[in-house]
Amino acid sequence: MTDLLSKFDPLIQERETLLATGVKDPFSLVMEEVKSPTVAVCNGKETILLGTYNYMGMTFDDDVREAGLTALKEFGSGTTGSRVLNGTYSPHKDCEDALKEFYAMDHAMVFSTGYQANLGIISTLAGKGDYVILDIDSHASIYDGCAMGNAEIVAFRHNDVEALEKRLKRLPADAGKLVVLEGVYSMLGDVAPLKEMIRICKENGAMTLVDEAHSMGFIGENGRGVAEHQGVIDNVDFIIGTFSKSVGTVGGFCVSNHPKFEIMRLVCRPYVFTASLPPSVMATAATSIRKLMHSGNKRAHLWENSKKLHKGLRDLGFELGTPEAQSAIIAVIMPDLERGAMMWQALLQEGLYVNLARPPATPANMTLLRCSLCAEHTSEQVDQILGMFEAAGKAVGAI
Ligand code: PMP
Repeated sequence: MTDLLSKFDPLIQERETLLATGVKDPFSLVMEEVKSPTVAVCNGKETILLGTYNYMGMTFDDDVREAGLTALKEFGSGTTGSRVLNGTYSPHKDCEDALKEFYAMDHAMVFSTGYQANLGIISTLAGKGDYVILDIDSHASIYDGCAMGNAEIVAFRHNDVEALEKRLKRLPADAGKLVVLEGVYSMLGDVAPLKEMIRICKENGAMTLVDEAHSMGFIGENGRGVAEHQGVIDNVDFIIGTFSKSVGTVGGFCVSNHPKFEIMRLVCRPYVFTASLPPSVMATAATSIRKLMHSGNKRAHLWENSKKLHKGLRDLGFELGTPEAQSAIIAVIMPDLERGAMMWQALLQEGLYVNLARPPATPANMTLLRCSLCAEHTSEQVDQILGMFEAAGKAVGAI
């Protein structure tokens, strides 16, 4: 018998070598108690959370929690069925209405996760013989959607407008083309030049899909994302998003103005062949989305936090993923996995949780300490965070 797990031996070895240095496993942390969007108890210690995607701090919002409790009581704990059979309850329709209001778009389709939204929409739109043109640093769910649909994948250099144009011009004029972009790229927290890119896509007859997972709720005047901020949202064919970040629960979606969009509900396998989300999740998402429509003050405070952390870390001497704060993600570049893990642990001992990211999730084989800010972090917490980075950075020789 061939052991099908032996292909993972190099990874098992790398993990064992890392743990032998005395570093705790950075990928199996348990939050023993969660006190607020910004504070939890980990290893018995009160810890500031700087590695969640809870950008707008909605997980503990009173109205959001109340809506979930009410729906749980009224509709039960789950639907036990697909959206196209017995799994559409009124909270699912209401949640899709909330998305249509939020984006001012005609159609909204909710999936069980953002991962499934990309998997489903991309694989259903682009099949054999079609082309998906994507940024090389695209999220795994985008690549998996391309693989599932069997489309030709054409990757271009990260955020490179000219490279996108060159690739598009080389493709057959009459072929089906879908360009997939992200508003904010989650590893380095950098923003895409959507304005130029969407124009080039239109000029070259390609449809466009933008994943706004990390910008929804925060970027743009109404929190609709980078496409809104750069004034091109009306030219984007499909926007993908998730409820697992600013919305503060779980689920994924696609919104569109395409007149034929509703047919997707019947032909999109990751939508049809899986159970729908629990009605309590739909009620929390709908309430959160409607509150995010009126969260201008929170957005302003989150920008302040992000800029303050970026400047503070740069002044301390850390190498960062972007020259200035472009989103709520600030990535600290570490020289290698071992020192990254040591720094991660030193920060945890100080009482700070950040995300350790490593290849293959990261671009250019980088090890990153990814900091993601929350609108509920106070300015004092950001000062505390900078003090912790200074202490940990000096302790492990990173600065
Ligand atoms: N797209 C992007 C860009 C993401 O970063 C993520 C999750 N990190 C997803 C999609 C998937 O979202 P979900 O957690 O809802 O599956």
